[in-house]
Amino acid sequence: MATDYDAPRKNEEEGNESIEALKAARSNQTTSVESEDADNPSFVLGGNDLSNVELDVVVLPPQQDEFTCMSCFLVKHRSQLDHADTSGPICKDCSA
Ligand SMILES: [Zn+2]
Repeated sequence: MATDYDAPRKNEEEGNESIEALKAARSNQTTSVESEDADNPSFVLGGNDLSNVELDVVVLPPQQDEFTCMSCFLVKHRSQLDHADTSGPICKDCSA
């Protein structure tokens, strides 16, 4: 009698495990596909965010009394300008 009760229970457990495994596999596949799809057209969201940040960073640094050294790419005060090279201004630290 005990085996009769154990047998269907095992079958049910196995069935549940297999269904759960399939659900987990489907959810994993769905997640991986969604993440890949989200990465490929990332320019829709990430591109806009990055462009906004880059614009803010690029627009702000060059102040009237400051310059961006084309050698070390640091924003220096005009007093630190040694000379302007063909590529752009060079600070005294880089010129020395
Ligand atoms: Zn420099």
